[in-house]
Amino acid sequence: METVRFEDLGLRPQILRAVTEMGFEAASPIQARAIPLLMEGKDVIGQAQTGTGKTAAFGIPLLEKIDPKNRKLQALVLCPTRELAIQVADEMRRLCRFMHGIKILPIYGGQDIGKQIRSLKGGIQLVIGTPGRVMDHMRRHTLKFDELHTIVLDEADEMLNMGFREDIETILKDVPEERQTVLFSATMPKPILDITKNYQKDAELVKVVKKELTVRNIDQYYYEVKEKNKQEVLSRLLDMYNPKLSLVFCNTKRRVDELTTALQGRGYFAEGLHGDMKQSQRDRVMNSFRNGKTEILIATDVAARGIDVDDVEAVFNYDLPQDDEFYVHRIGRTGRAGRVGRAFTFIVGKEVYKLKDIQRYCKTKIYAQPIPSLNDVSAIKADKILSGIADVIKNEDLGKMISLIEQRLNEEDYTAMDIAAAFLKQAMGYGEAAQEKPVDFGDTGAEEGMVRLFINIGKKQNVRPGDVLGAIAGESGMPGKLVGTIDMFDKYTFVEVPQDRARDVLMAMDHAKIKGKSINIEPANQR
Ligand code: AMP
Repeated sequence: METVRFEDLGLRPQILRAVTEMGFEAASPIQARAIPLLMEGKDVIGQAQTGTGKTAAFGIPLLEKIDPKNRKLQALVLCPTRELAIQVADEMRRLCRFMHGIKILPIYGGQDIGKQIRSLKGGIQLVIGTPGRVMDHMRRHTLKFDELHTIVLDEADEMLNMGFREDIETILKDVPEERQTVLFSATMPKPILDITKNYQKDAELVKVVKKELTVRNIDQYYYEVKEKNKQEVLSRLLDMYNPKLSLVFCNTKRRVDELTTALQGRGYFAEGLHGDMKQSQRDRVMNSFRNGKTEILIATDVAARGIDVDDVEAVFNYDLPQDDEFYVHRIGRTGRAGRVGRAFTFIVGKEVYKLKDIQRYCKTKIYAQPIPSLNDVSAIKADKILSGIADVIKNEDLGKMISLIEQRLNEEDYTAMDIAAAFLKQAMGYGEAAQEKPVDFGDTGAEEGMVRLFINIGKKQNVRPGDVLGAIAGESGMPGKLVGTIDMFDKYTFVEVPQDRARDVLMAMDHAKIKGKSINIEPANQR
């Protein structure tokens, strides 16, 4: 797939600067197709999921068109939910960070309308709103469309699923005839096509054309994680599988830099690779990876193109790729030359839908895996080391070593078991020790040596202390007897766990349910 650079899209320098600061290395495929058409003023139907860079695909051309000197409303983005409206507004604000005088407001149901009206009076050029609330403002004449030149329907299929069809049509009928109408949707059912027929002019369909690609010889797993836990989960997987060479993919240059620093800080032999680096730097990193000095290479999609290393044992999608085809390119770096490779993909929240798309497209199965606990990591590491030892016992002459050990046993008060266990501990390495270092949760009001955790479930939901204890022990693998005081209230519960286990419990319980109910768990507020 050809790389399209933002520099070649003819953007305002302020937007180019924002995109650079956001760490985007190249336009995502949907951006590469949609941005030029939108900048020509065409109506566009974009078929794209969340995670493809769709927001910037319509957002950049929209910002290009907004006149900062005109205080009137110029563009409207309709979104199905409050969360998406806020998310889109955030992304748009990041994109126009270096443009002066652009005011953006998300408006959605549930928020005080008086406050929204006051903000609108201040002169807003771009509104991002849910259809119901936008209609509300139309009725009150607090949103005026006379200077509106662009309207975007984001996640149009979702909006129809939520019953917003009538509202959307009312809004589309009310905005000026002379306008650019943009529609983004993950799917294209008939009602969507009807809207595009009735309300767009000569719309161009933009979707990323896909080649048939297959993935063989690669065991593929995914992990549902929270963004803030990604580093920890990656470290555990690296420790557990201990791949000789691994490739870790991030979506931006900045994320490559951040992760490289973090992994180096945790003692891994990791280096980053991206487009901002000088050729000589890149050569140095690649050489070091080829000869195994660097075990973990962290790269963006673009930078990884030139990598020609055959024995990559594992590929990590630290960020879910923006395009299905990227997934195939990325994981195709492992499992070469008849070897079996492994691919691990992290997904956060709604990205699970994008993952389904990838599986459908690649005709492959990506299996869900629980996040390994520290116990799992240790057990697997120990197992690996001990299997290696079996070979040594079988194939090597150990006579001299045995006499050295015997000598020690006579001199000291050790058993052979003590010595073997100590060697095992040493062989398991320092990474382990570093990871077991307890995190300081501050004073959570717990007993000495314990951390008090808050769970948003209580007696009213028919939950008993035994259920909480069972869930914690079951999910984290920690013996139930280590769980401390459980204080249960109507709607929430406090439970104490040992300090050195708290992080593990928090991670294990991240997506857990208690008695079938999803829960949220966090350290109790500090005193
Ligand atoms: P979206 O599909 O709009 O939900 O975007 C998903 C994520 O990708 C957001 O965090 C964007 O900031 C990010 N993103 C958008 N365009 C690019 C790009 N060209 N390169 C890297 N990341 C991007």
